[in-house]
Amino acid sequence: MAETVTNWAGNITFLAKELHRPHSLAALGALVADSANVRVLGSGHSFNEIAEPGPGGVLLSLAALPAEVDVDSAARTVRVGGGVRYAELAGHVQAHGLALPNMASLPHISVAGSVATGTHGSGVGNGPLASAVREVEIVTADGSTVVIGRGDERFGGAVTSLGALGVVTALTLDLEPSFEVEQHVFTELPLAGLDFETLETVLAAAYSVSLFTDWRAPGFRQVWLKRRTDQPLPDFPWAAPATEKMHPVPGMPAVNCTEQFGVAGPWHERLPHFRADFTPSSGSELQSEYLLPRRHAIDALYAIDGIRDVVAGVLQICEVRTVAADEQWLSPAYGRDTVALHFTWIKDTAAVLPVVRRLEAALDTLDARPHWGKVFAVPSAALRARCPRLGDFRELARTLDPEGKFANAFVRDLLAD
Ligand SMILES: Cc1cc2nc3c(=O)[nH]c(=O)nc-3n(C[C@H](O)[C@H](O)[C@H](O)COP(=O)(O)OP(=O)(O)OC[C@H]3O[C@@H](n4cnc5c(N)ncnc54)[C@H](O)[C@@H]3O)c2cc1C
Repeated sequence: MAETVTNWAGNITFLAKELHRPHSLAALGALVADSANVRVLGSGHSFNEIAEPGPGGVLLSLAALPAEVDVDSAARTVRVGGGVRYAELAGHVQAHGLALPNMASLPHISVAGSVATGTHGSGVGNGPLASAVREVEIVTADGSTVVIGRGDERFGGAVTSLGALGVVTALTLDLEPSFEVEQHVFTELPLAGLDFETLETVLAAAYSVSLFTDWRAPGFRQVWLKRRTDQPLPDFPWAAPATEKMHPVPGMPAVNCTEQFGVAGPWHERLPHFRADFTPSSGSELQSEYLLPRRHAIDALYAIDGIRDVVAGVLQICEVRTVAADEQWLSPAYGRDTVALHFTWIKDTAAVLPVVRRLEAALDTLDARPHWGKVFAVPSAALRARCPRLGDFRELARTLDPEGKFANAFVRDLLAD
């Protein structure tokens, strides 16, 4: 019987009536070689049509392949299969006394899908999750495998690739010695009087910092500091410590969230906001996110404050994070230390899209690049102008995939000459 394939949020129903789930790499290679148009669906946590192959195309899942997680303790690396999620990976890595440098807000997402879209956590010294990747293995259009590692001139396009180069069957990531993190939550940090220097100090107050606002008032309802216990405990005079455990989305149960109140725990149980065995975020939502040069952070916040009523009308929560510059050509943090402005909207596309357009207009002069996996309306021409290495990526895609087997409407629009 035909299945209905949707993304996690349920706002995208894929045209494919079947999700192909090969059980071996040989079967995967044969399927790719025999198909004219292929896209991979990771854990399906993107909110737009980035994974949609289009009419007649093959939608492929790697979930039935053996879930390879192979830690090399001496080299401090891990080789991870293309369908593996961070939740599975992190437990293995921790069991070897090792750690990933950072995680996103949730561990439910696949590694390959996350790095393909430039997914990130927070921290002025932490690049996107793709920064940990040292090598990527890709099944290309004829079914053969290409391995691209750091140092290869193609590497800048190979990791944050939007799934446009082929099927990523394995990634090798750098690890570091395991570390512990404490989470401290503060409440009510006003926007009034917040200047660039103070904001910079706030955002750098711990290893990973998130500010949350619902834009119903000009200020931040919550501030989450994730402090590594091997780094100093910050003095944080700007807001009051929370008196109860908190969920960032108003009205959602705090039990879904990772431990707070400064209780130290392993990196993978503190760096995500949400626990692996619980629903992340609100569970009924759309999301958008814009990544800007960090020097524009204050201007951007005041620009949003100027349309606060419009934004608040369809917003569940807005999160402000930082991302260190990286070198992946299509990364929204490419070449610039970044502030990331995230919006968890109500799940109503018709109501949200006009607000997304207003928001994009408000941020238009601030060189905002959208998160590839979230809802945005920036026209392709404007997007191309904001991606300085797009031409290099286009060339790489043409070399590895000359017939455009792994292209879809999303990718073709972006890469059009
Ligand atoms: C509740 C929630 C919280 C989120 N929090 C964050 C956050 O904290 N930070 C952040 O930056 N983002 C966040 N996101 C966005 C999310 O990280 C991205 O959408 C990410 O791409 C999800 O990974 P996925 O495996 O679900 O990707 P999918 O949506 O399945 O796919 C994304 C892209 O990757 C490609 N792809 C996937 N696997 C492969 C593969 N093996 N080979 C080739 N191409 C592949 C797909 O074709 C597609 O183009 C969140 C999303 C949700 C739903």
